[in-house]
Amino acid sequence: MCGIVGYIGKNPALPILFSGLERLEYRGYDSFGFCVLNNNKIDFLCKEKGKISDHCHLRDSKSVGTVGIAHTRWATTGLVTKENAHPHCDCKEEIFIVHNGIIENYKILKENLVKEGHKFISETDTEVLAHLIEKYFEGNLEQAVKLALREVRGTYGIAVVSPKYPNKMVAARMSSPLLIGVNSDEFIVASDPSAIITRTRQIIHLDDDEIAVLTPDNFVISKQERESSSWSVRTKKIETIEWNLEEAEKSGYKHFMMKEIMQEPSTIEDAIRGRLYFEGGNVKLGGFENVEDRLRDVSSLVLIGCGTANYACKVGEYMLEEYAGIPTETDIGSEFRYRKSLFSKNAAGIFVSQSGETADTLAALREMKEKGLLTLGVTNVVGSNQARETDAGVYTRSGPEIAVASTKAFIGQLTTLALITVYLGRQREMALVMGNRIIDEISKLPELAQEVLDTKEDIKRIVGKYIDYKDFWYIGRKYNYPIALEGALKLKEVSYVHAEGTAGGELKHGPLALIDENCPTIAICPSDSVYEKMISNIEEIKARNGKVIAIATKGNEDIKKIVDDVIYIPKTLEMLTPILSVIPLHLFSYYFADALGKDIDKPKNLAKSVTVE
Ligand code: GLU
Repeated sequence: MCGIVGYIGKNPALPILFSGLERLEYRGYDSFGFCVLNNNKIDFLCKEKGKISDHCHLRDSKSVGTVGIAHTRWATTGLVTKENAHPHCDCKEEIFIVHNGIIENYKILKENLVKEGHKFISETDTEVLAHLIEKYFEGNLEQAVKLALREVRGTYGIAVVSPKYPNKMVAARMSSPLLIGVNSDEFIVASDPSAIITRTRQIIHLDDDEIAVLTPDNFVISKQERESSSWSVRTKKIETIEWNLEEAEKSGYKHFMMKEIMQEPSTIEDAIRGRLYFEGGNVKLGGFENVEDRLRDVSSLVLIGCGTANYACKVGEYMLEEYAGIPTETDIGSEFRYRKSLFSKNAAGIFVSQSGETADTLAALREMKEKGLLTLGVTNVVGSNQARETDAGVYTRSGPEIAVASTKAFIGQLTTLALITVYLGRQREMALVMGNRIIDEISKLPELAQEVLDTKEDIKRIVGKYIDYKDFWYIGRKYNYPIALEGALKLKEVSYVHAEGTAGGELKHGPLALIDENCPTIAICPSDSVYEKMISNIEEIKARNGKVIAIATKGNEDIKKIVDDVIYIPKTLEMLTPILSVIPLHLFSYYFADALGKDIDKPKNLAKSVTVE
């Protein structure tokens, strides 16, 4: 998920790897490392926790080797420690690897390798790859990598070197980006063009199932045929990248927010990777294993988050009550900590925070721990305070989010809460068929989310129609009530335009007084159990000359007759609709703010990780 740089050529590798990693700093990471080879010797090997900028002296280390790999880690498996930083190596220190992504079946692979006598020093999934390659290493590095990858499920971008073959580097990818920069006397492998373009703009994109074998003056790329498992050599086009550095960091998008919205389908994929257990109609959540029995006894839940995370909690509340049958309430961290909460004996708290460092949420967590209650976490950052202080938890694995306004991390939180609902539901009354039905629908979400993103030009056009309005109302009911709140928050955050979110049924209790031709409403009304009620609310607005943009289910043509504009989302289970209905709202806010020329990634007065009370 984070950053890879590899170098093979005629120049000393270390300074090039070092500046490559510096270019990847913007992505955020928790630790980093290098391995440089000089002939058959390891010339430079180092792993550190923290920031590269705190270790600038490393750049000047004595290292003349011209082949090397480097990595910035965003931990997904194993804590943030020096041992867990990449590169990882095999028992004999003959294979060094850097890896981005998640190996789904690493536990079983590791068990088998341990039985075969392999010694592990880290907790990572990546080290399993190093030992697996060692297992097949009989004098041919690329062959060993190919055989190892056949056993692996999950995502990877990897670069592998070996002091036994110091003039070779093997790189491969599966659903995790990897590029090769081609220069007259060198090749640079990287997960992100920003690490390459200061040296060359000639780039080859590796595709899934492809493997590249590089020497200082040549490379061969081959692809594995899915059916026959045989490899065939590919001729790849060298593309010229025209982006400047800033554009490269954003993968060519104008803002990180847009890049991150575009990553929403893969965010869902990462959150569910290796966790859906179809045969059992269940999910596997490694982080809950130690408290499995305590979870069975939980009689009520409190979900705590702040801002966007609080709206994720609110969606979670609907999910957990309806499908897990557990009485659940949601609160914001800053209120919860000063309230006199009354807990039943077996209450538990679920704390939701992207960074895992949100001060108000942490304070609420400590308050609950103090009372001896079970605390669970949903966070994106491995080793964060929240992750360390909760009794158990599930990582959202959304990768670094750079834009201050959260988009993909929210999607990751919703997906994770859906998984937790299935887990707790299956421990209780939820039937196998229902568990199966939900996880089947969850597995389709990445594709459905992509379908929503594909309508982005329509959303941009709709934004154009409403750009002069100064006030917006967002309404939804049940699962989509929190999405109305989130939609309004997102518009406020990035465009500074006034927006309010409310439950559809609450309109008549006050907000209707503000509705007229100058205050458009975004109505989230998928074809679900409250659809008819939403239509009544929309009619109340239309009767007061209010304009309405509806977020409706694909195929609902009737709605066009009532509202001014429609944005369609594909059909899914009612409890999962928020994961799709929020995507057009993200795009709406983005295009709105962009049209107004706002500083989208860094809205005024706001910070990414709110570590103050
Ligand atoms: N899963 C690997 C780890 O946790 C790689 C994470 C990354 O992409 O940085 O070490």
